[in-house]
Amino acid sequence: MTVALIAGGGIAGPVTAMALRKAGIDATVYEAYDRAADGVGAFLTLATNGLAALRVLDLHTLVRDLGFDTPSMSIGMGGRPFAEFDFGDALPDGTVTQTISRAALYTALRDEAVRRGVRIEYGKRLESVSPTADGVTATFSDGTTAHGDLLVGADGLRSTTRTIIDPAAPPPRYVPLLNAGGYARGLDLDAEPGRMHMVFGRNCFYAYVVHPSGDVWWFANPRQPRELTREELARVPWRETLHGLFSGQDGPALDLIDATEEIFAGWNTYDFPKVPTWHRGRMVIIGDAAHATSPASGQGASMAIEDAVTLGKCLRDVEDVPAAFTRYEALRRDRVERVVKQGKRNGDGKSLGPVMRHVLPLILRLAKPSASGMRWLYGHRIDWDEPVSTDDVVGQRTKAR
Ligand SMILES: Cc1cc2nc3c(=O)[nH]c(=O)nc-3n(C[C@H](O)[C@H](O)[C@H](O)COP(=O)(O)OP(=O)(O)OC[C@H]3O[C@@H](n4cnc5c(N)ncnc54)[C@H](O)[C@@H]3O)c2cc1C
Repeated sequence: MTVALIAGGGIAGPVTAMALRKAGIDATVYEAYDRAADGVGAFLTLATNGLAALRVLDLHTLVRDLGFDTPSMSIGMGGRPFAEFDFGDALPDGTVTQTISRAALYTALRDEAVRRGVRIEYGKRLESVSPTADGVTATFSDGTTAHGDLLVGADGLRSTTRTIIDPAAPPPRYVPLLNAGGYARGLDLDAEPGRMHMVFGRNCFYAYVVHPSGDVWWFANPRQPRELTREELARVPWRETLHGLFSGQDGPALDLIDATEEIFAGWNTYDFPKVPTWHRGRMVIIGDAAHATSPASGQGASMAIEDAVTLGKCLRDVEDVPAAFTRYEALRRDRVERVVKQGKRNGDGKSLGPVMRHVLPLILRLAKPSASGMRWLYGHRIDWDEPVSTDDVVGQRTKAR
């Protein structure tokens, strides 16, 4: 049986391991941190395209059980929404886009992977990889090694695998926005649960969604032209900073901040316009390691999941490992780079100047972004049973359901 080593136990790692097992390939995940590092933290939105990819592996109900329905969003300024959109069509069983805490998602995917027979080893930080006659040997920072037929780098934005594959790989690009947020309790907002409200405040973009329990999950993206160091980020007085940005404005931003016991520590935003090399020999990168997108796309996790399922298909159907990686890249690169571009555009929109802020509602009303206009994104479906061939570049396609 082919044996895969997977570096990184975030989202792409465990999902890849389960996709590979479905494809008849044994996989072990090596995660740099201890299990306890999962902690409480931010949340994310898994769109229907990501959920459809999870459905291929019978994993979408796991997310649905832990998340909550978020079928639509509104866009507004101050207290006024001026446009509404759907987050894509529901899956055939009615599943719609979900909002879920990051920690809950990571834990559930890892636990399910283990339940399905995947081994996950913690405290294993990949340091180097050497090719051998019949595969690869990975060395971890604790001095241990592991041998496999191939290595998948699912090790995120600061991927070590990416640099091992291509020492000249570019670093992530800083996107001049910070992220902060929290869970507000005890508010009585006049807002429908499950609708994501995106608000262009005068000085800062923010978004909030009411959980069915009544809690309000929110985040804000203060503009920050220069990348801050970890120490600088740790010194930012987040509550006071956000208060300053939102004071005197309509809308619930100040209430959200006041009703939040703990504001998540803010962090920088990054993306990757292009990572030139995704694979070399028997090593490949997937997820954020290959194509991180700004959180403004709301698609990073979904892209990582689509990658994982596609890679599973390629390794199932293309016997030669480097050729399977070539197919995987051919099937994924255009799509993920389009998403990264869209995320950059969305992120740029969060730092509009005063003139554009006036024009934006008009543009959005005239452009009327429609469900069909976003079908390329949310409507993407991966057919597990459709064989991947070495010469058919369009082995998987976006299907308008
Ligand atoms: C603020 C914010 C909001 C976001 N919101 C959304 C959203 O709404 N919707 C969405 O779809 N996406 C969102 N994303 C993006 C999403 O979180 C990522 O795209 C997704 O987590 C990528 O999964 P991954 O497995 O590739 O990387 P990660 O989830 O980062 O996992 C990488 C793993 O590799 C481990 N690791 C790192 N180095 C090594 C090593 N050398 N050896 C072994 N292990 C290693 C790490 O500890 C980590 O566990 C958001 C991201 C941010 C920052």
